[in-house]
Amino acid sequence: MFTIGCHLSIAKGFAAAARDAGSIGANTFQFFTRNPRGGKAKSLDAGDLAAFADVREQFGIERILAHAPYTLNPSSSKPETRSFALQTLADDLNRMERIMPGQLYNMHPGAHVGQGSEVAIGMIADTLNAVLAPEQTTTLLLETMAGKGSEVGRTFEEIAAIIDLVDLADHVGVCLDTCHVWDGGYDIACNLEGVLEEFDRIIGLERLRAIHLNDSKNPCAAHKDRHEKLGEGCIGFEALAAVVNHPKLRNLPFYLETPHDKLDGYAQEIARLKDARSTSVA
Ligand code: FE
Ligand code: FE
Ligand code: ZN
Repeated sequence: MFTIGCHLSIAKGFAAAARDAGSIGANTFQFFTRNPRGGKAKSLDAGDLAAFADVREQFGIERILAHAPYTLNPSSSKPETRSFALQTLADDLNRMERIMPGQLYNMHPGAHVGQGSEVAIGMIADTLNAVLAPEQTTTLLLETMAGKGSEVGRTFEEIAAIIDLVDLADHVGVCLDTCHVWDGGYDIACNLEGVLEEFDRIIGLERLRAIHLNDSKNPCAAHKDRHEKLGEGCIGFEALAAVVNHPKLRNLPFYLETPHDKLDGYAQEIARLKDARSTSVA
């Protein structure tokens, strides 16, 4: 089973987003829980959620991935920014239990603004310890980052250090973004095997729960984070096809976050990946 989708808007509701996914050949999708720059989430509509369940059934959508606003910073030096991140994460995790239990919720770990990554890692873990609860069915994912500015989570060591400090670590996993790890200095084009071995040694591959599949506008180790359409960037289509076909990755859900203004662009990438998936596996 190939679980493939892309980032979609939920501005018209969850049922409409699932219909969009079905219309482009996707069987999963990612969405922002609220405005990506933060702010208040729209209240959940019971009618929409019921319709969402029906549309999922229709298109075989068994998994979804939520994405936290990317401006949340649980490792800010400002207490009010940290507390806003905590409130938002707690609210989002509660909403996930109503939207669809047992799913994935991805966040950027944070950025340290002067206080250093060690202090930041402790602050991020404190926030996770405050928002995770044993009865939650949602798994919270930390996304691997490109290392732009003072982003935490560029190295596998930083991600592992956060998880090490979380009490309910079985509620935490990792989302690997191919553009981010590449920009962060992990050469998945020439050495995918070596990068996965390193991930396994430092974090553990059992923690890896989702892949953001993006090409990159910049060379390996550029620390930039500019996504590109598959095959039009520095990683290249062949290397990204190897990611979706890798025996240790192929059962994970894959999400395109490539720059397209129209759904058609995603439909074409999904079709091309389905093709690469079937032809390169004996
Ligand atoms: Fe992200
Ligand atoms: Fe991403
Ligand atoms: Zn990115």
